Amino acid sequence: MLAERFRKLRGLAWRVMDGIFENMWDYKYVPIEIIARDSGVEEHKAEKVLKTLSNEKLIELKQTEYLGAAFTFLGLSLYSLNRFVRKNIVTMLGEKMGEGKESMVYNCISKWGEAVLKFHKVGYTSFKRVREKRDYGDLHYTVLMIRSAKNEFNALKKLHSKVSVPKPYGWEGNAVLMELIDAKELYKVRLENPKEVLDYIIEEVREMWKLGIVHGDLSQFNILVNPEGIWFIDFPQAIDLNEIETDEELRMAEEILRRDLTNLISYFRKTYRVEVDADRIVEEILKS
Ligand code: ATP
Ligand code: MN
Ligand code: MN
Ligand code: MN
Repeated sequence: MLAERFRKLRGLAWRVMDGIFENMWDYKYVPIEIIARDSGVEEHKAEKVLKTLSNEKLIELKQTEYLGAAFTFLGLSLYSLNRFVRKNIVTMLGEKMGEGKESMVYNCISKWGEAVLKFHKVGYTSFKRVREKRDYGDLHYTVLMIRSAKNEFNALKKLHSKVSVPKPYGWEGNAVLMELIDAKELYKVRLENPKEVLDYIIEEVREMWKLGIVHGDLSQFNILVNPEGIWFIDFPQAIDLNEIETDEELRMAEEILRRDLTNLISYFRKTYRVEVDADRIVEEILKS
């Protein structure tokens, strides 16, 4: 579906979308005049293209004192894919691997071979202050999708050399390109050595903390397992300890670490009757 929609788009449409992308941090709906100026497409032509894209639900048009445009999730995803394609980083889109409330995940062929393209659908309001020139209220929701993708990419970059996560290959718009892991979610497998696996997970979470990252949504759904190993995925809500500025923010990060570990430990208790003292583990990690 995505590949078909992608093929129908022409150069003019991509240029007009460039005009939206370049200005979406400054305007919730980018004025057509600015789109025309930055894309080099004449205003009446740009308007025609925008109307077509709006009929196809790739952008949203809004008439106030001026006519303005913003992406939809689908439009931003196609545009982000195109940024990978025109840089020759992604050469072919494959099957959809899954779609949920938070993302749409495809497999693809990239410069590094088979890979995963994850399109972010939601934005996370983390506790950390939004240090950007515009208030949240003035931003279009698609800007928040981009921020989620960026946050996931940054967390994977900080972790991948030392922690078992997919290798991050690239970030464009709301899309993150990463290594394809051929494994199943933890909740789908029956482990033969649950205690060993839990101990390993705890050591990896400790390593993440040392590297300054708290996952923030750790669960049996966001850990992949196969006979060769274990991988952590799904980092858009990750917290970067280096960005923390106050004691209160640090306490909140510690609470999120505690929640992550408590969730997992209780999953292992219920599923495998493995008993581990969550509080003791958390205190130990905080000290390391
Ligand atoms: P959802 O909306 O379903 O909660 P999500 O936002 O939580 O999605 P992820 O957990 O990152 O997104 O990915 C969704 C699913 O896609 C994963 O459960 C996994 O099956 C698959 N997946 C994601 N990344 C990879 C990867 N690098 N390799 C293999 N499979 C992956
Ligand atoms: Mn989820
Ligand atoms: Mn997930
Ligand atoms: Mn998620």
